[in-house]
Amino acid sequence: MINFDLTEEHRLIEQSVREWGAREIAPRIRELDREHRFDRNILPQMAELGLLGCSVPVEYGGAGMDYISLGLVSEELEYLDTSLRVIMSVHAGLNCLTLLSWGTEDQRQRYLVPQARGEKIATYGLTEPAAGSDVRGIQSVAVRKGDRYLLSGEKMWISLADVADNFLVVAWSDLEKKKQRDPSGLTAFIVERGFKGFSSGTLTQKWGILAGNTGYFTMDEVEVPDANVVGRPGEGFKIAMFALDQGRYTVAAGATGLIRACRDASVAYAKERRTFGVEIAQHQLVKEMIAQMESDYQASRLLWLRAGFLKNSGRRNTRETGLAKWFATVASERAAGDAVQVHGANGYSDEYPVGRFYRNCKGAVIYEGTREIHKVMQADYVLGYRVDRPTRCDLPATAPSADMPR
Ligand SMILES: Cc1cc2nc3c(=O)[nH]c(=O)nc-3n(C[C@H](O)[C@H](O)[C@H](O)COP(=O)(O)OP(=O)(O)OC[C@H]3O[C@@H](n4cnc5c(N)ncnc54)[C@H](O)[C@@H]3O)c2cc1C
Repeated sequence: MINFDLTEEHRLIEQSVREWGAREIAPRIRELDREHRFDRNILPQMAELGLLGCSVPVEYGGAGMDYISLGLVSEELEYLDTSLRVIMSVHAGLNCLTLLSWGTEDQRQRYLVPQARGEKIATYGLTEPAAGSDVRGIQSVAVRKGDRYLLSGEKMWISLADVADNFLVVAWSDLEKKKQRDPSGLTAFIVERGFKGFSSGTLTQKWGILAGNTGYFTMDEVEVPDANVVGRPGEGFKIAMFALDQGRYTVAAGATGLIRACRDASVAYAKERRTFGVEIAQHQLVKEMIAQMESDYQASRLLWLRAGFLKNSGRRNTRETGLAKWFATVASERAAGDAVQVHGANGYSDEYPVGRFYRNCKGAVIYEGTREIHKVMQADYVLGYRVDRPTRCDLPATAPSADMPR
């Protein structure tokens, strides 16, 4: 039996984020976006709501919610603005849930607990100036020295680069394997902003997610103790991919929220704007765009809910999460383009939110696996060229139930 109902707890978290967003964010987001300003004061508010440790167990400082709740939060946040959902993706999805699954008890106490409480903000540093999709092309190195590593390299296009305290970083710890592009030479590390040799900056030429912070950081022989190696040396590639299973999930749910925002804005405008003596909503070609938004919204939502259901049950979901991310982000680009179209020239102005949606949606078609990478992955699954092997550490299940909420 499949149950499509949300639980009371799900409805409660959805409602509380929606009410908070309508009160605290919606009235100001246009100005923050126009001013290219990341408002740090939003972080303690998100912490207060339990969002920053959403699916982290209570014993590690989190709110102990299930993964469906993480999806619902992501959807609600991106309904407001992509910049808010990005915080969930890098802090809660890519970083915290990786430490929960792969971190030592000491790392969980030192890093996960303060992060889940929102006392420290965390992100994920994989991409470099010369390598994004091609992870094996990264150049950062970690040279062993006594009981520590010296990390050197530059990470680029990193969300919250200039805001975060802690960074999950992947670098080559085996230089011979680097030459051979053998990913078992990559290792994951926790790097603190305060470590000597670390510096960061903000990318100011970015044209979307303007209320967010995206930047770069440089590591100049940053000393990282052995105790900050996540997993085992050589597991960096697997950990980076594991992290993406959680990050992509929040991106999928977030893009679903953006489609809903496009649909709602388009419905409101189509009933207010008149041409040829009728509301534009009466024109079949306008209806077609709105119908497409509705079908994209519903399909995207079902896909991320299925991935969340698998996560709750402790089952492998790389394939389903990837499909949800690919479908929802591509659909969000279609929805945002059509939302601008429904608004005509007004859609081309910042007076209406749809232009912001249009700028914001594109990032998610690029990060956490580009549209093309996901397309190839999905084809390879179907063709039998790609099979997910078990990982040494799993995301802990949260709900042993077979119910799948709506
Ligand atoms: C707003 C924003 C925030 C980001 N935040 C983070 C973050 O927090 N942390 C982080 O580590 N990274 C982050 N990124 C980086 C992002 O993950 C990379 O941009 C992404 O992985 C793509 O890499 P690339 O830009 O180097 O493009 P490339 O890999 O150079 O790709 C360029 C083009 O070639 C295509 N292509 C490449 N390889 C193939 C192939 N095998 N088959 C078919 N087509 C291919 C791609 O699809 C793309 O169209 C962010 C990016 C953006 C825009």
